[in-house]
Amino acid sequence: MDFPACDPSVAWPPMPQPSGFDARDEASDRALRPKRLADFTGQGHVTRNLTVAITAARQREEQLDHVLLSGPPGLGKTTLAHIMAAEMQAEIVETAGPLLEKPGDLAGILSALKPGSVLFIDEIHSLKRMIEEYLYSAMEDFRITIQLGDGAATQALTLNLAPFTLIGATTREGQLTAPFRSRFGIRERLDLYSVDELSRILSRSATLLDVDADIDGLETIAKRSRGTARYANNHLRRIRDLAQVSYGNHIDAAVANEGLAMLGIDEAGLTEIDRRILHCLARHHRPVGLKTIAVTVSEDDATIEDIYEPFLIQSGYLTKTPSGRQITARGYEHLGVVPPRGVDQQHLF
Ligand code: ADP
Repeated sequence: MDFPACDPSVAWPPMPQPSGFDARDEASDRALRPKRLADFTGQGHVTRNLTVAITAARQREEQLDHVLLSGPPGLGKTTLAHIMAAEMQAEIVETAGPLLEKPGDLAGILSALKPGSVLFIDEIHSLKRMIEEYLYSAMEDFRITIQLGDGAATQALTLNLAPFTLIGATTREGQLTAPFRSRFGIRERLDLYSVDELSRILSRSATLLDVDADIDGLETIAKRSRGTARYANNHLRRIRDLAQVSYGNHIDAAVANEGLAMLGIDEAGLTEIDRRILHCLARHHRPVGLKTIAVTVSEDDATIEDIYEPFLIQSGYLTKTPSGRQITARGYEHLGVVPPRGVDQQHLF
């Protein structure tokens, strides 16, 4: 079989995404979010630890310690932040690392927090270092010092803040500095969901979306949702459209299969981009750098690393070596390609 060329200059045709995602989906995404810990499926170790921490803080009438949630996108970090605020009956204020450009942006948000509030900062790894350092005293002493004026006329103004809990979410915990990470008393990592957990998430979503789906239909979607709740819900929404238009609003395995095929998702749950990544690696027969892969498949390297790679690694199609990414024997098999002679078989597993 022919490989698509792994040449950064080769232009690829427009690529079907796993699911289209528009503003209507965003509203629906919010509507599908569980509101309490009891409705949050899976991540048992995380929910157990959070339940204990929240209950203890409430019993002592103390502020919950700062929380850092890490893991690939779409696993429920934002959802958990909202749930924690609800469980503590606290107001939640939401922002994201890239939105905080200068210390004044942060000072404005912090000084407006009501006592007991939750401040949720998504993508906290992308905070500028200067802003991160402002957060240190806010997290430790509920106080910040702002410099007013320039040069000799500079004055330092110290602001006392209301006690608050910072919840940070990150897809790249490794990018946080050690002093910053150590200021979070609670650090939890979310893992990809099992098929059974995703089936349960989908069953709840199907009820909320008012579509009739049987166990086989839900499991078919769950198996092909790359361990991610957001993908599973997105697929369900698209397949619901198909079910409504052509199958009397009922989803079984056949309807799910037809819908997934329309979305370009194969039997293993791989999307067109996953397959391009694997083809790129197969073409090279040796470890390939992230940047080369990114240019070849027309995605940025962070997206490859955060969204595509975790599932390809977990499914055994790709491995990371010190000199780059490499396709495994399983990856070759999935593409229907015989590993070329001379490829070091040891590196394929
Ligand atoms: P993240 O912040 O990690 O990117 P989100 O919290 O935005 O992920 O979750 C994406 C979507 O997946 C949410 O709208 C929610 O409906 C769904 N979701 C995530 N985790 C769960 C879960 N454990 N149970 C039910 N739905 C979930």
